[in-house]
Amino acid sequence: MIVPDPLELLAAEIRACTRCPLYKGARQAVPGEGSAEAGILFLGEAPGYNEDVQGRPFVGAAGQLLDQLLAGIGLDRSKVFITNVVRHRPPENRDPLPDEIEACDAWFRAHVEALRPKVVVTLGRFAMYKFLPGESITRIHGKARRIADVTVFPMFHPAAALHQPSLRAELEKDFQTLAQMIATEQTTEKKETVVAQTPKQLDLFG
Ligand code: URA
Repeated sequence: MIVPDPLELLAAEIRACTRCPLYKGARQAVPGEGSAEAGILFLGEAPGYNEDVQGRPFVGAAGQLLDQLLAGIGLDRSKVFITNVVRHRPPENRDPLPDEIEACDAWFRAHVEALRPKVVVTLGRFAMYKFLPGESITRIHGKARRIADVTVFPMFHPAAALHQPSLRAELEKDFQTLAQMIATEQTTEKKETVVAQTPKQLDLFG
């Protein structure tokens, strides 16, 4: 029996979404893509022109920078999941409105439920506001926060770094911090697994 992939089922539901009016002006929805493999979910703002044409997140200039930043810490985009605060392109690339963000929240929750990420990296203000409303990204970028059972890691949006070269260095630094944090978590998990297994192994021979 072929078991349907929950991420594919979710993507199909998002493609049919009419929860807010954004779908009317967009070519198609951009549900998100990637996998749960690395335990990291990247949350951007909204699809732009290229994403709207291709139906895939971060495939334009900001996406190329995101790919480079990921590669810089040895992560392939297929190992992480990438999605946006809203899944249809806003007209003229305007900022998403509060009602649109609210309407799309159900899909974010569904992705979190399906992927169970350890870390959510928020790219830009709108993604950060989902967890940390009213915070200043300039002040808190690159600093991890534990919120419920996920680690939220705010970063500048890659598109901002394309317009303001000084932000690129900040993004690169934040990606290095993220890589260190992931490595530390993996080491801790390995140690915890060894400790948890030791009594069982002793029992086998005891
Ligand atoms: N900017 C975003 O926030 N998301 C995309 O998918 C592309 C550009």
